[in-house]
Amino acid sequence: MDEGLFLLKDGKGRAFLVRAKPGGVFHHHRGTVPHEAILEAGPGGRVKTHLGEELSVHRPSLEEYVLHMKRSATPTYPKDASAMVALLDLAPGMRVLEAGTGSGGLTLFLARAVGPEGLVDSYEARPQHLKQAEANVRAFWPHDNVRFHLKALEEAELEGEAYHGVALDLMEPWKVLPKAALALMPDRFLVAYLPNITQVLELVKGAEGLPLRLERVLEVGWREWEIRLPVAHPRFQQVGHTAFLVVFRRWKAS
Ligand code: SAM
Repeated sequence: MDEGLFLLKDGKGRAFLVRAKPGGVFHHHRGTVPHEAILEAGPGGRVKTHLGEELSVHRPSLEEYVLHMKRSATPTYPKDASAMVALLDLAPGMRVLEAGTGSGGLTLFLARAVGPEGLVDSYEARPQHLKQAEANVRAFWPHDNVRFHLKALEEAELEGEAYHGVALDLMEPWKVLPKAALALMPDRFLVAYLPNITQVLELVKGAEGLPLRLERVLEVGWREWEIRLPVAHPRFQQVGHTAFLVVFRRWKAS
């Protein structure tokens, strides 16, 4: 991780991603903090603005980073990205194919799951998105296990049965499904993230005739609670619907 990368949290739980550098200043609506003070306090420490607002200083977790990093496209929501890692059954050393890269949020979850010995081949059709994704990934993840490709996945030249997993987060995944299915190793998983149920149905239709078996369609529930002793209740504002996860498994070529 970039040594100057910090997350500051104020008394109301609002979080701010900061790239601290000598001479820099962090602006909060309740005052300012010189970056030197943040660097000196370090992760786990605290700083105060010149108006007395206290902020805690942290290294951003992956979840915090993805929620607060600059975005070119909406990142896969972290609760779903972590579920995708589990559904893809990823482990260190594996190779994953991803499209589209977007802001690089899901890429980070995949890259961490397969580790420095693994590989993520990530395809993105839009140059601006890929540029932002590369910057986001490089600032958080120091290892060289992500290859970024500026290309629509359906135009990629892919080796057959080369990947332990395929992760798709794009509008029309049925267009890339034939290519992605053939690049997947037998008995391994392809997981698509889709906001709309109509997309899910279109994808399932698109899988007909491909060596893919539909395993499951699910949503990930994540319900936050407010604990203010002696009171405790579910938060009144929750993250609502994010997306459906569609899981396919590759048949062996007959
Ligand atoms: N999962 C990403 C993240 O966590 O940041 C967000 C992905 S964003 C919702 C969808 C991306 O897919 C967009 O950046 C879009 O340009 C890209 N895209 C759409 N169709 C594509 C295709 N056929 N091949 C590659 N990328 C594609």
